[in-house]
Parts: sequence; C-alpha cells; structure tokens
Amino acid sequence: IIMSPVRSIASYDKAFVNGEWVSAKSSKTFKVLNPYNGEVLSNVPDMDSIDVQDAIQAAKIAFEDWQFTTGKERSDLLRKWYNLLLKNQKEIASIITSEAGKPLQEALGEVAYGNSFIEWFSEEARRISGEVVSSPVKTKEMILVKQPIGVTALITPWNFPIAMITRKAGAALAAGCTCVIKPAEDTPLTALAVADLAHEAGIPKGVINVVTCDRGNAPAVGKVLCESPDVAGLSFTGSTEVGKLLYQQCASGVKRVGLELGGNAPFIVFSSADVDRAVEGAMASKFRNCGQTCVSANRFLIQDTIFDSFLEKIKSKMQLLVLGSGTDSKTNLGPLINETQAKKVDDIVQDAVQKGAKLLYGGKIASHIGERFFEPTLITNVTPEMKCYTEEIFGPVVVCVKFNSEADAIEIANNTRRGLAGYFYSNNLAQVWRVAKHLEVGMVGINEGIISSAEAAFGGIKESGIGREGSHHGIEEFTYVKYMCFGNL
Ligand code: ADP
Repeated sequence: IIMSPVRSIASYDKAFVNGEWVSAKSSKTFKVLNPYNGEVLSNVPDMDSIDVQDAIQAAKIAFEDWQFTTGKERSDLLRKWYNLLLKNQKEIASIITSEAGKPLQEALGEVAYGNSFIEWFSEEARRISGEVVSSPVKTKEMILVKQPIGVTALITPWNFPIAMITRKAGAALAAGCTCVIKPAEDTPLTALAVADLAHEAGIPKGVINVVTCDRGNAPAVGKVLCESPDVAGLSFTGSTEVGKLLYQQCASGVKRVGLELGGNAPFIVFSSADVDRAVEGAMASKFRNCGQTCVSANRFLIQDTIFDSFLEKIKSKMQLLVLGSGTDSKTNLGPLINETQAKKVDDIVQDAVQKGAKLLYGGKIASHIGERFFEPTLITNVTPEMKCYTEEIFGPVVVCVKFNSEADAIEIANNTRRGLAGYFYSNNLAQVWRVAKHLEVGMVGINEGIISSAEAAFGGIKESGIGREGSHHGIEEFTYVKYMCFGNL
C-alpha cells in the first residue's frame, strides 16, 4: 500500500478530534505566521473550553480499549507511525521551517530527533513489565503490575514543534494512555501533520487528539485539561510561570504531573579545557534554534587564565553566523519566533548595556533582515543586577562571566532556582567528577554541548521541573503501579 504523504501546509486548517478534522464550535480561527516574513501560512480553529471537552471525551472512550491492547500491538502501531514520519521527514521539516523559522538543516535534525522518540517508545512498549514480590506470608502472593494512568493532556511549546510532541505522545501511547495535545499557538501545523500520520498509521480514533487554540483561549483550555476529572495526568513543556500555574490547577484533582520548564544553564570552561572544543560546544549549545531552547547555555563562566582567549575565539566563530530565511542553505541563524520574543531579547541586552556591561559584538535587532531577527551578541562585564545574569535569554546572546576558582564557578552556577542542564569543559579527571556531582541540575554535558537523545532521561530539578522524558523513565510518567494481593492460597 502506498501511504499518502503529509499534505500541503495550508491544508492543515482543522483540529484533529476523534479521528476527524474539525472546526471550533464557535467557528473562530487564528492565523499561523511565518516568523521569517510574517506571511500567513494557514488559519486553524481557535478552540475553547467547550471544544476541549469533546476531545477529552473522545480520549476517554478510546482509552477503554487502548489500555488493554498488548505492548506488542502498540509497538507495531508506533513503528508504523515512525516509518511514516521517516518517509515524510522532508515535508515535516519544511513545515517546521515555515512556522518556527529555524534553518531547514536544523529542522531536518529536529525531525530526526523527534522521530527517534516514536522509534524508541515503539521498542519500549514491549518492555513494560511488573514484579513478583517475595511474599512474607505462605498463603499470599504479591504482584506489582504497571497500568496506564488514563487520558493525558500534553501541552507543548513552539521551539521544537515535533520533538516536544513525540517525546510525550510516544511515551503516553506506549504505556497505553490516550492523549489530548494542545500545541503552541505559533506552531500547530507540525502537530496536525504528525497526528495526520498517526491516523494514517492506523492508531485508533480518539487515541491522539489535537486541540488548537490561540493564546487568548490557552488559559481556559488549559484549565479544563488540568481540572477535568476525566484527565489523569498532565505533561507540560514551557515556561516556568505557566508550569507553576498548571501545577496548581492539577493539585485540586491530585493529577499526575510532568513538567519540563525553563532552565538557566551554566556553561563553565575551566583552564584545563581544550578551548577550541569548548568554543565549538558553546556555539552548538547557544546558537541551535537561535538560542531558543530550555537547555541553551545561558551563562558562560570562563576561568580567568583563558578568559581572553575564549572571548576572542568565540567572537570569530560568531562572525561566521549568517542570518536569513530558513530555506536559504547559507542561513545558519534563523529569526526568533515572534516580535514579542525579539523585543524581550533586545530588552535584556539593552538593560545589561545601560548597567555597564561591555558589548563586544552585535547588540540589536537586525532590522535590515527582519523585525524578528536579533544579531548574534557577545557581552561581558556583567553583574548580578542585570537581567541577562538571572533570566532565561532565549536568544542568540553570549553572556560571559570571569571566575577564579572551581568553588566560585560552582557557587555562581548553582545560584539560581532553575536546574535543568549544565555544561562544563575540563580535562582534569578529578575535577570532572567533582563538578559533575556538585552542579544542581538534572542533566550535565561534560566536554559536550549537545546532550539530548531519546535513550537518555531529560528533565530538571528545582523550579525546572518534575519527572523525566525519554529513556525508560519517560514511560513511568504514564503508568502507575497496581499491587495485586492473592490470598488464601
Ligand atoms: P513560551 O514562553 O515558550 O511561549 P509558554 O509557557 O508561554 O512558553 O507556552 C507553552 C505552552 O503553554 C503553549 O502551548 C501555550 O499556548 C501554553 N499556555 C500558555 N499559557 C497557558 C495557560 N494559562 N494554560 C495552559 N496553557 C498555556
């Protein structure tokens, strides 16, 4: 059978509920824009609290059967979905470039990464096993089985339009859960294309639902998803502010929550490091997706003896970055997602400069290319009063801080309520072990700037989140342990 490919971008103009393409009951729609030039890519339903109820009911009904499918059956369906995603990788990457702005090469990388979660969880679906406990009583046997938690709500951000969805939905489906996905308002088209392929792969109706809505309706839709008694758990990736609100909303129903929130990643370069490698890692960590990832290096801490050489080397690499359209093969730095984000980055940089930071490169919106483009920027002489020191920048800005001792570096690195990723470069073995243990983060890159992978456990500590995604831990978020006690044996 020849499966039909992903459709043209503009034809994704409906939400996906219970295996059908549907409009909002209010008939309202909102525009999805290309961040490169502001072109309207499509109009999608602006759903509200009533529409999301339908999706929850569809997922609830689908769960009745889906929860009792075998791991092997779910594995086969996930594998079919994966094969279709693979076959359509170029088409999906092109949708991502259109709605998120990232260069096509990067979008292809994201699709490979995003697809890998479906492949991984298709394999893991067959390995969800329980335990037989050694009973202390002769007449009893005790068994722990894992069961899916139920209908799950998946709320995702725009920075990885496919990966943030597959990482959650792959795990949820493998576990036997059904889901209602609320993609980010900036990038709903990728989500719809991915759901289209899930449908095509034979995943039953109601198992995956995609409810689209604009920013205005997001709080109402989110509230229903958190508070409906028919939803068992929430998995959210996004800002710390919204994550805290959703966590509170989930409290009244004692819902299972998985939160992947903002980071404030330190990137430490010790004097023993290979500075060229460190610069390479710094560039990858900072400029991937134009700095718009929650694991992007946010604060560069450089030991005094190599400070000047690091600055000089990273500046020369930054001079090679080319801003432009994601579809132009020369471009390696796309626009920021929207004007609000561009203004926010500009505000952080201007605040630092006004408070006395030294601007070594860039520093402003690149208006000659577009209002959403920000110049790659290098600043130093920063102090803790500056926004760039404490806030998640989410833009192409390298902020460098000089430190003297290892203890200073660790203190600065840990002096934040966030704890997602941390990176450091060192060739001193004892120091590597010490620093890796002391960093208060969920993930550490050691002499490495890119750490994400379906096989590894992604997640944070402190205010950066709860739970893990990817690896076999990712499935645990969607199962509960049921204890069965067989008596009078
Ligand atoms: P970002 O700063 O990356 O846009 P947000 O946390 O604002 O991060 O958005 C992440 C996701 O959360 C998006 O899908 C957005 O629509 C959604 N969202 C924003 N506010 C709410 C809310 N009050 N309730 C539910 N979802 C929300």
